[in-house]
Amino acid sequence: MLKVELHTHSADDPVDTIPHSTLDLIDRAAELGYDALAITLHEKQLDLRRFEAYAADRGVVLIPGVERTIEGRHVLLLNFRRGADRVDTFADLARLKSRGRGLVIAPHPFFPGSMCLGRDLERHADLFDAVERNAMYTRLLDFNRRAERWAAAHGKPMVGNGDVHRLRQLGTTYSLVDAAPHPDAICQAIAAGRVEVESQPLSSIDAALILSGMLFGIEAGAGVRNTGRACPKRRALAPSIGGWPISSGDISQS
Ligand SMILES: [Zn+2]
Ligand SMILES: [Zn+2]
Repeated sequence: MLKVELHTHSADDPVDTIPHSTLDLIDRAAELGYDALAITLHEKQLDLRRFEAYAADRGVVLIPGVERTIEGRHVLLLNFRRGADRVDTFADLARLKSRGRGLVIAPHPFFPGSMCLGRDLERHADLFDAVERNAMYTRLLDFNRRAERWAAAHGKPMVGNGDVHRLRQLGTTYSLVDAAPHPDAICQAIAAGRVEVESQPLSSIDAALILSGMLFGIEAGAGVRNTGRACPKRRALAPSIGGWPISSGDISQS
């Protein structure tokens, strides 16, 4: 079984300000024994040619991907060789899927926040190959449960994703995939349901540390390398948890 992470961001992200570089992310994934990694920047599919040999030297296969905002909702598009970062509507997504291979995953579909799929997952159920269990949860607060019920009712596989905005988020929730170590084989195996989710909740302390890092730029994660590269051109956005902007109202929802 391959240890696989399908939802990560890096300093190359054009939307979120992320402290670790793409190389840092690959290094950390290799340290944690990952066999495959998708770097899913917001809106823009990262050109992997600069990174594939570096990752391969460390035993990590890179899967092309992007977290695209489609009609206002986040959707993970994996292993589409071209066109994924031009998808704006669900009709565009249907056309992309009809043209060829690729895996469509619903990330954090029922988390609070307008960018989460919510009812659009039901409306466009046929377009989705798998549903995400997002690593951002604790024993007491878990927005993934509805996603699991939805996936079970619709016969869709679940994948475990870190939605990594900080390196410390890597490693608590991931997928084990029964496939050869190649992007096509991994994505086909997931679509066919040959995937298991490994997941443990964050402790309240870890959740608080990750939140404080994202909200206030406090990086209390001892032992995690942080390049802290400044991104002066990047626009400041609303704070986000694992990719979904939050307000105090969101946090209090359960
Ligand atoms: Zn997202
Ligand atoms: Zn994300």
